[in-house]
Amino acid sequence: LDTIGAVVPDVAASIVNELADQRSNVKLIASENYSSLAVQLAQGNLFTDKYAEGFAGHRFYAGCDNVDAIELQAAELVHKLFGADHAYVQPHSGADANLVAFLSILATTVESPELERFGQTNPANISDADWENVRQRFVGQRLLGMDYYSGGHLTHGYRHNVSSRLFEAHSYTVDRGTNLLDFDAIRRQALEVRPRILLAGYSAYPRKINFARLRELADEVGATFMVDMAHFAGLVAGKVFTGEYDPVPYAHVVTSTTHKTLRGPRGGMVLCTSEFAPAVDKGCPMVLGGPLPHAMAAKVVAFREALEPNFQTYAHSIVDNARVLADELQKRGGAVVTGGTDNHLVLLDVTSSYGLTGRQAESALRSCGLTLNRNSLPFDANGPWYTSGLRLGTAAVTTLGMGAAEVAEIAEIIVSVLSKTSPAATAKGDGTVSKAKYELPDTVADGARGRVS
Ligand code: PLP
Repeated sequence: LDTIGAVVPDVAASIVNELADQRSNVKLIASENYSSLAVQLAQGNLFTDKYAEGFAGHRFYAGCDNVDAIELQAAELVHKLFGADHAYVQPHSGADANLVAFLSILATTVESPELERFGQTNPANISDADWENVRQRFVGQRLLGMDYYSGGHLTHGYRHNVSSRLFEAHSYTVDRGTNLLDFDAIRRQALEVRPRILLAGYSAYPRKINFARLRELADEVGATFMVDMAHFAGLVAGKVFTGEYDPVPYAHVVTSTTHKTLRGPRGGMVLCTSEFAPAVDKGCPMVLGGPLPHAMAAKVVAFREALEPNFQTYAHSIVDNARVLADELQKRGGAVVTGGTDNHLVLLDVTSSYGLTGRQAESALRSCGLTLNRNSLPFDANGPWYTSGLRLGTAAVTTLGMGAAEVAEIAEIIVSVLSKTSPAATAKGDGTVSKAKYELPDTVADGARGRVS
């Protein structure tokens, strides 16, 4: 910190402030975690200075031996953790990983004589007409993914994301009555749309998904089956999601982030069957520039940590804690979407439970030391900015060693705060509660009181 501070004191101060923030507030953001010090140090070092375009053993820069060693090791560990035929560990983020996957699937499955010729042609000699033909063949293929408002991710065809420009994007929703995915409805839609890619995976869906059934459906409609396991990769690695709930044996292509339940550095990866490997390995130059060797080094550390037997205990505890959270919220009258959870996240309907928007609830809880995010609920009348819901995740608090007792206490605090928060508590009506407006229950530990006490 002294070294950083000598150059830019403000950055050193922000790091210290962030440490204080993360230590004094309870982290319930479902996409966040606490990576280990080993992961953080592996990511912050001189490897950041190295360029290594290409892939291991096939680089466009000299002096990449050490990067090759890291990249090969990361891929091997992914294979041990998840069992995929092939792994590509360069993507800088989940969004990059999805773009690499989309383009690899198109390059592998869309018939394109021009592309076949490209393999034997010096790129400098590819004519503009050939490029235009490829572009026309690629753009406008059909993608069928989970609707953003039902819990799907932006990169799954949301209208403001590039995925909806690249593809003719279609989306399936959850059932209006149960808020659960309805496989028969998805099948009817897939038969009608006949997508090039059937995409499963979510950012805000609290249930597990039967990937075996979706693969059957993909085969039936002639689609490539892709799963984005960004949120639940740690639950797959930790053997919570096994059998038909493990996407890797069923999907042609699986993408993920490495920083959520998997507890690694910020980053992404693509796993695939050998059929897609040649295209996936061309993520650079297709989508990426130079890989980030420091991030890949940190991925190696995180994958090693995830291979330790105690990671399985950790992954199971994440889900146990999420179940306790859902149960305890419901016991106290909270409207939990779908009535519970099978994974690391819980969706709470704060509009029907407390007459608040998600934004008001998020703000009120943050002022009481709980950091979480508002989230659209299926068919949300409050839109994506205000929302009607909160998304709560247990990966980070489980890393801190919290168990059922602490999580029950968190549920008690949430209900206590929200039931005493009025939408007009501030002039802006953003739901920030004044300290005087309520009292936390006596049982709440001092640390959990955050800034309220
Ligand atoms: N895919 C899913 C399902 C996600 O939830 C996220 C991030 O929240 C992403 C992809 C994108 O990851 P990143 O933020 O690393 O680009």
